[in-house]
Amino acid sequence: MVATKVVPPGTVIFRELPAVVFPNLASNSLWMVCRGCCREIGVFGVAPFVQCSDCGLPLCKSECDFDGTHRDECELLQRASYKFSKREVGSLNVAAFTGLAILRILRWAEKYPVTAKTLYKLAPRSHGMKQELNDAMWSSSRDWVVEKLGLDISEEKLKQAFRVANLATVNLPTSNAPKMGPFKIMGAMVVYAGRSMVSHGCITNVYFTRLEEDVMETVLVSSRELKAGEVLVMDHNARWFKSADYRRTWASEHGVPCPLCADPATLGLHLDSWTCTRKGCRGLVVPLRGADSPDEGGRCQSCGLGMSAEEMESAAWEARRALEALEEAGSLMKASTGERKGAPSLRQWERFLHRYERPRGPLHPMHWIALRAKKELIFTVAGCLGNMNRDHNTEELVRWEGAFRDVLRALDVLAPGYNNMRTNINMQLVKLLCIRLMHLHKDGLRGRKLQVLYDEATSVLKDIKKLPRTVELQEEYAAMEFICETVTTLL
Ligand SMILES: [Zn+2]
Ligand SMILES: [Zn+2]
Ligand SMILES: [Zn+2]
Ligand SMILES: [Zn+2]
Repeated sequence: MVATKVVPPGTVIFRELPAVVFPNLASNSLWMVCRGCCREIGVFGVAPFVQCSDCGLPLCKSECDFDGTHRDECELLQRASYKFSKREVGSLNVAAFTGLAILRILRWAEKYPVTAKTLYKLAPRSHGMKQELNDAMWSSSRDWVVEKLGLDISEEKLKQAFRVANLATVNLPTSNAPKMGPFKIMGAMVVYAGRSMVSHGCITNVYFTRLEEDVMETVLVSSRELKAGEVLVMDHNARWFKSADYRRTWASEHGVPCPLCADPATLGLHLDSWTCTRKGCRGLVVPLRGADSPDEGGRCQSCGLGMSAEEMESAAWEARRALEALEEAGSLMKASTGERKGAPSLRQWERFLHRYERPRGPLHPMHWIALRAKKELIFTVAGCLGNMNRDHNTEELVRWEGAFRDVLRALDVLAPGYNNMRTNINMQLVKLLCIRLMHLHKDGLRGRKLQVLYDEATSVLKDIKKLPRTVELQEEYAAMEFICETVTTLL
C-alpha cells in the first residue's frame, strides 16, 4: 500500500470493518464458545446453551449470530450434511476451531474473490510460529474439514484459508468485551483485509487504532508526514523491542528488506549489542552482521575484543530467560475472571533492571531486553502514579523517568511520530512530570526548574490533543488536563 499524495501526520487514512470474524479458542478445553457472538458459554454439561437447529453447533441463545457469520459456516456444514451431536459440542478441539475458521474464510472468499486473492498472496507463512507446530495444526485442521466433515474442497484453497485463519488475524482485545457472568470472551479473531495489505517492517510510519469502544471498526492513522509514493509500513507483530532472531523470522516471511535489521548497530540503538566483558572496558560488543544475515559473533567497538556467536548467545541467556519468565507470569489470566494473576510487581521489574543492566549486568540501556523490561515497568508504574495516596520518593521518580526517556528514545527511531505506544507512554509521562514538580515544590524548590517540567508536560499534552480521539485518549485526556491545571498554582 502506497501513499498517492502527501499525508499530514495524524490523518485517518481509512476506516475498516472486519472481513471475517471467528471465535478464539476456549480458555478451557471443556468450555463451549458461542458460534454466533464468540462468547464463552461455560462448561459443557453445566452451563445452559442451545444448539443451532441446522448444524448443531453451540450458541448462547437461539438466533445469536453476529452479522450472519454463523449462517455462513452453517451453510457449508449443511452442504456437507453434517450435524453436530450434543456430545460433540462439548469436545470441539483446536482442529475443529481452526477448521471452522477455515470454513468462514472460504465463504468470505467466495463472496469477495478479488480481495481474497490478494490477501492469500500476502498472508505470511507462519508469523514466527514454530514450523512443526504450524505444520501439525495445518494437517489436523485439514483432516477435520476433509475427513470428518467430508467437504470436497481443494487442498490449495484450504491451505490458503488456513494461512489467513492462522496468521493474518488480530485478536480483538478482551478488555472491551462485555463479561457474561463469571465467563469472559476469549476474544474474537478478526481478519482485517486492508490491514493485511499494509507492509510489515520494524520501522513504522502508520498505525491502527479504534475510535470507539465496543466496535470492531479500526482506523489506519499516519504517524508522521508521508511523502507521495511512500510505502506504508506497520508492525504486524506489535511486540515491541524484539530479539534479532525474532525480527529475522518475520522479515524473511514478509520478504521486506529492513534498514534497521540490516544494520548491525540497529541505526544507533544497539538493540542487539552487549556490554564488553573485558575488565575496565565500557565499550559495546556489536554483532558483525545485521539480523538480516546469520549470526557471526561480534566485536567490541572500543577495545576490539571478539565474541563468538555462542558467546554472544550465552551473554544473553540469563537475562533473556528471566525476562521471559516475568512476561509469562504477567500474561497468565485467571480463566474464570480474566484477572491477571501473579503479574510481576513494580519492584520485580525494578529488581530485574537493577540486576541485568550495567554496571551489574550485561545490558546497556537500549538493549532490546532492557527496553522490553522498561516498557513493562512503565505500564506497572502507570497504576502506581494514579494512586495519589501513595508517597513516591524522589529517587524512584527519577529512576522511572529514566525508563520513560529510554523507551521514548527507542521509539523515535522505530516508530517516529504518533502511535498507540507513544501516546500511552506520554500520558503517563505527563502524570510523572507533574508529580515530580509537586515533589520539588515540597522540597522548597521554586522557579525555572519547575517551569521546565511544567512546560514539557503541557507541550506533550498539546501534541496528544492533535490526534484523532481514540478510546484510550478520551477519558485519560481530561484527567491529565486537570492535573496540569492543578500544578500551575505551584509555579
Ligand atoms: Zn452468542
Ligand atoms: Zn448452524
Ligand atoms: Zn527489521
Ligand atoms: Zn571492549
